[in-house]
Amino acid sequence: ASCANCRKWIGGRVVHAMDTTWHPSCFVCWHCDEHLEHVAFYEHEGKPYCHFDYHELFSKRCFHCRTPIVDQRFITINDPELGGENNGGGGERCYHDLHFFCANCGDPFLDPKASGSVRFGGREFVVHKGYPYCEKCHVNLHKPRCKGCKKPIATGDVITALKSKWHPECFCCAFCNKPFESESFFIGKSDGKPYDEACYRIKLRS
Ligand SMILES: [Zn+2]
Ligand SMILES: [Zn+2]
Ligand SMILES: [Zn+2]
Ligand SMILES: [Zn+2]
Ligand SMILES: [Zn+2]
Ligand SMILES: [Zn+2]
Repeated sequence: ASCANCRKWIGGRVVHAMDTTWHPSCFVCWHCDEHLEHVAFYEHEGKPYCHFDYHELFSKRCFHCRTPIVDQRFITINDPELGGENNGGGGERCYHDLHFFCANCGDPFLDPKASGSVRFGGREFVVHKGYPYCEKCHVNLHKPRCKGCKKPIATGDVITALKSKWHPECFCCAFCNKPFESESFFIGKSDGKPYDEACYRIKLRS
């Protein structure tokens, strides 16, 4: 038999591995030269690797901790939003189950006790600029804030007025706090706040 590594004739003891034959001293990790005859080895494209290098070189990596994902549970999320310079343009990303959490508050999306799936048993998340956020943080951080109550405008109607955004129920007369009955309102000259016509006239007189 000849050796799959050095191609020379094997005169003495032969190692049979990966459907071929090797000198005992030639059956080594392709990366670090560790002898693999008596240890677990992994095959990649016809070459043997030690446990450590195989996972360092070829395993998926957790996007959070950057370590190879060996046998731990992990999830793969695939979202076009995940592409871009953070991820070499791909939309797929892997995380250890417990390393998949909100980029702001750190709440995990997956119940550590549930089996790993985002859609079933996992919490909803929103990807923003390449990072996952829980719904609450996403609304708090990335949604416009109402000029009236200062709270984020999560869903529903938005009124844009006075260069700001408002909840419809928050856009009301700054004097009587009633919503405007018509489309028109008056802007206080000194405070820049909106007033209905009646209150605006009262204010003018004061
Ligand atoms: Zn050899
Ligand atoms: Zn090695
Ligand atoms: Zn991790
Ligand atoms: Zn959060
Ligand atoms: Zn509001
Ligand atoms: Zn009013």
